[in-house]
Amino acid sequence: MEVGPATTVGTEVYVDPDLCSRSRHCHAKHRCVDLCSMGVFVSIKGDGVYPEKSQLCCMCFLCNDFCPAHAITVRWTLRA
Ligand code: SF4
Ligand code: SF4
Repeated sequence: MEVGPATTVGTEVYVDPDLCSRSRHCHAKHRCVDLCSMGVFVSIKGDGVYPEKSQLCCMCFLCNDFCPAHAITVRWTLRA
């Protein structure tokens, strides 16, 4: 049997910048930044948010459920 490197399971968070910047409901307050207990998001100066610490995501899906623009995608990643 051939033994390969262990597979690592991680998380990835993506924010669609076009959808986010179109939202007029929460964009000015960047609610997802406050909502995330893991500190994944940072506000970008002047516009939008960025999932800077995507790897810390614990998959609670609060941001995904909240975002009125449906701009946030949270998913598993597999690395061999
Ligand atoms: S909750 Fe959605 S629309 Fe609001 S700042 Fe975050 S990504 Fe943008
Ligand atoms: S799913 Fe939860 S932990 Fe992950 S980025 Fe969204 S609010 Fe943060």
